[in-house]
Amino acid sequence: MDSPCPTCGGTGFTVVEDGSHGPPVTQVCLCVLKRQIIANIERGMRGLSEAVPLDRGARSPLQAHVGNDLRVTASPVWFASHLRHTAARKGADWGFRVVTDADLMVAWLATVALQGSEILDADARAEAAPVSLRKLTLVDISSPPELLVVRLGVKAARNSAMPEVLYEALTIRAHEGKPTWVWDQPDAPFDGAHLSYSRLADEFMERWPRVREGDEVRQPQPRVRAGSTGAAPPAPSGNGGASRSVRDMMLGDTGGGKRR
Ligand SMILES: [Zn+2]
Repeated sequence: MDSPCPTCGGTGFTVVEDGSHGPPVTQVCLCVLKRQIIANIERGMRGLSEAVPLDRGARSPLQAHVGNDLRVTASPVWFASHLRHTAARKGADWGFRVVTDADLMVAWLATVALQGSEILDADARAEAAPVSLRKLTLVDISSPPELLVVRLGVKAARNSAMPEVLYEALTIRAHEGKPTWVWDQPDAPFDGAHLSYSRLADEFMERWPRVREGDEVRQPQPRVRAGSTGAAPPAPSGNGGASRSVRDMMLGDTGGGKRR
């Protein structure tokens, strides 16, 4: 599909000119790192790599929260752009995963099915193949990711178990000592009218930090270089020059969806 990388010609590595006459020293080409990061972004959430990039040099309010619980209220477009931005900077090994409330319900129903009960959920039945042993259980889906993002508002059919399924997922995460982001949307906030709402879950998340669509990053850019014209470079996070360049690639026009 894509034409070969002009830097490495598709080999995936480049030869480093180190001035010596020893055997050639090679390094992995940026195109490989970029592909790995895009693959990881897609693994975490399908289609996420196609989200609209943030402006060059922008920072996302999500970035400060990758290690802690968080409530996010944002539209899918805003959230996807900011999550893509965040994931591109976390690198190819970042174990984040986005699941929907509907995914959690199906997983929970699989848990129930394993216990021999009947499936009584319209959304799950619509998936034709009845919830089976091949489906992940709630623990399977909730427990492993380094960061679990629960997207609320995808499940359409009311199920009286949904609030407790969400709460159970939160407690599974807390038990694992791993961070969770709960993402609702401005036109369907997590309040008493929400399909997934419970007082238990609400109180559970009461002290979590919050990010809302349009929030800016508050802290000023550290260490703006003297003579800078004000457009501060993205703050490096210590991964060395190569991955910094990959971040730039992910930021700019050459990243994401553009194909030539
Ligand atoms: Zn290359």
